[in-house]
Amino acid sequence: MDVFSDITGIRSFVKNQKRKGKTIGFVPTMGSLHDGHLSLMKLAGEKADEVVVSIYVNPEQFGPSEDFEEYPRELELDLEKCQKMGVSAVFTPSDEMMYGPEKFLKIEVNDLNRYMDGGSRPGFFEGILLVVNKLFNIVAPDVAVFGQKDIQQFIILQQMVTEFNHDIEMVMNPIIRANDGLALSSRNAYLSEEERQKAPGLYRSLQYIEKQISDGVDSPKLLLDHQKSELEAKGLKIDYLNVFVRKTLTPAETLIKKEQYIIAGAVWLGETRLIDNILIEF
Ligand code: AMP
Repeated sequence: MDVFSDITGIRSFVKNQKRKGKTIGFVPTMGSLHDGHLSLMKLAGEKADEVVVSIYVNPEQFGPSEDFEEYPRELELDLEKCQKMGVSAVFTPSDEMMYGPEKFLKIEVNDLNRYMDGGSRPGFFEGILLVVNKLFNIVAPDVAVFGQKDIQQFIILQQMVTEFNHDIEMVMNPIIRANDGLALSSRNAYLSEEERQKAPGLYRSLQYIEKQISDGVDSPKLLLDHQKSELEAKGLKIDYLNVFVRKTLTPAETLIKKEQYIIAGAVWLGETRLIDNILIEF
């Protein structure tokens, strides 16, 4: 497995592979890898000949009061995991390598970021679009794999690929969960033992809402209010919990047959913010 911290290194690796007729599957990550990330790498390996992973904690997607400094970093362990997964190359740039001293340009999101994480985290998706746009230009993969865990990210990036004409196939991997249902996340490492016990409550609420909707409830407001108070009573502080239209990422008042929806929530457990979602068709 090759490890490159410079852009020229990863670029010439990819060029060499392409010259040999190989396709490239790309998995961008912020490291502190868990089984969710590893399942993305496995899928990338099924979709392409060679897998390239990037490990980069992107400062541009963290707000001033967010956890950029505390975000877990464990590069040596991550590289071992990538090697075990049969990854061909890992790109681990520094901030200096990714961003010059001055930035004259930025990417703006006009829509699709009004609700969900976009509503709660101003600038978050602009930061993600900026870094993924750069990574796509650096790595130039044939296929890129992202997780459903961050479904709004996937949908906005898919739009970027379409509007900015990246010649890349976008693939979404399902959410990988712990045995008790908690979606795996690098941030789960922040949870105390007591918080970790409470954490699967979010997924249970989403499942309950999913069940009610598949039983025919077409206007979810009361259901959502009830689940919000249940979660708050258990000590999970609601950031948002709602049913969103898959196409527009706006809240759904009344559900329409054959339309796709995302039941999604974000909660705070102490200092830790957890997100999760379920995709459904009504
Ligand atoms: P991150 O390192 O958190 O930026 O995540 C890198 C990629 O892994 C993103 O595409 C995430 O959506 C995906 N990912 C994170 N957690 C999970 C999970 N539990 N299951 C599937 N994919 C995940």
